[in-house]
Amino acid sequence: MIEMDKLISLCKRRGFVFPGSDIYGGLANSWDYGPLGAELKKNIKDAWWDRFVRRRADMVGIDAALIMNPKVWEATGHVATFSDPLTECTKCHTRYRADQIDITAACAHCGSKGTFTPPAQFNLMLKTFLGAKEGAEAVAYFRPETAQAMFVDFKMIQETSRKRVPFGIAQVGKAFRNEITPGNFIFRTREFEQMEVEYFVKESEWAKHFETWLTELKVWLDFCGVDRTHLHFHEIEEADRAFYSKRTVDIEYQYPFGLKELYGLAYRGDYDLKCHQDKSGADLRYLDPETNEKYLPHVIEPSLGVDRTVLVVMLEAYHEEEAPTAEAGESAIRVVMKFPKALAPYKVAVLPLSKKEELSVPARQLADSLRQKWAVDYDETQSIGKRYRRQDEIGTPYCVTFDFDTLNDQAVTVRDRDSMKQERVKLSELEAYLDTQLKA
Ligand code: ATP
Repeated sequence: MIEMDKLISLCKRRGFVFPGSDIYGGLANSWDYGPLGAELKKNIKDAWWDRFVRRRADMVGIDAALIMNPKVWEATGHVATFSDPLTECTKCHTRYRADQIDITAACAHCGSKGTFTPPAQFNLMLKTFLGAKEGAEAVAYFRPETAQAMFVDFKMIQETSRKRVPFGIAQVGKAFRNEITPGNFIFRTREFEQMEVEYFVKESEWAKHFETWLTELKVWLDFCGVDRTHLHFHEIEEADRAFYSKRTVDIEYQYPFGLKELYGLAYRGDYDLKCHQDKSGADLRYLDPETNEKYLPHVIEPSLGVDRTVLVVMLEAYHEEEAPTAEAGESAIRVVMKFPKALAPYKVAVLPLSKKEELSVPARQLADSLRQKWAVDYDETQSIGKRYRRQDEIGTPYCVTFDFDTLNDQAVTVRDRDSMKQERVKLSELEAYLDTQLKA
């Protein structure tokens, strides 16, 4: 497994992820996705939406407001109890999550012993004020998860979409938590994105649906190129589960900084719908059109972090390999991001062998025409070897080299990122060829 420093430096060098607000000295643990990172992240979200919403008859998606009525968060208990235990070193004032360190040991920052304050609960809800006044009535919260709108809007969504149980509601969007110790690059930040599903089922059928979702998540992770041996499916013990959950599995990943959570899968019973029904007074029960039975459906919740997915996809894609250079008999280390083709930021790069107009003009035209179909990069600077290395580092599956022979034989050289094999392909057949290869 690669060290985080290498990945972070590649991300910065190639424009995947930069430190946020950099020219103002940055903002601790805030990150901006650059052009390639934005493409990668969007490809992940689009693939997820396609797989779990568009291609399924039993799923619908929503895009709800990020700031909800504060009563929502009172009803769920977030305002009162969505907190982590906080401790502070009284010597250097560094703050830690008390559940993540040994408070009888020395402070990792200043080395003092016996200086930690007793742990106190610190609420993670990010507060703001709505409107011109800043009084208690104006307090609102940025959502700490995307899940709640799926419950609050459950009735409207179910009635307008006319879905029958079992069915699911999905949402992708930002969530905010005032984390005590953000860190490890994009693993834990105060602003992040989630892809969540609330899947509504009959109580008697929850165990079967839970198993199906567990399999779905495994298949999704295969699609993301994640080696199953790097994953750990952690069945949460009853004592550590929320009281309403009969089964929860944390899907953990072996990051360079340790085995930690990637996704969560929880059976939440009818806890959320019940809370909102009790506190709002609205009848949230589902009417079964066949049996005329009215009940609160139970819920299976697969909860996925987008940023953690980006991180894991990048960690899995990163390879360093010995590869031959342009000099006969010599080799050098090449860094190659072996992204699954569907997730790669650019699918194709068009590289004219020379900057001369006789090559660059038709090569640009070729890139423009391929760009109607795929994300295409065009690069005419530096030696062809250096350009291949750059495309390897950003994970472009195919490089198309336009050379002087192309003008005569109407064919180009297509280089495969992973095998580095080159093939001569006729221009008239190029699109069909790439189409087949990119789907392979
Ligand atoms: P952790 O134990 O790492 O704090 P959690 O159990 O609080 O995570 P959930 O509330 O289950 O996390 O959130 C669902 C998913 O959202 C997580 O599995 C993770 O992928 C993502 N996520 C949660 N908090 C953050 C964060 N601060 N930064 C980035 N992603 C996050």
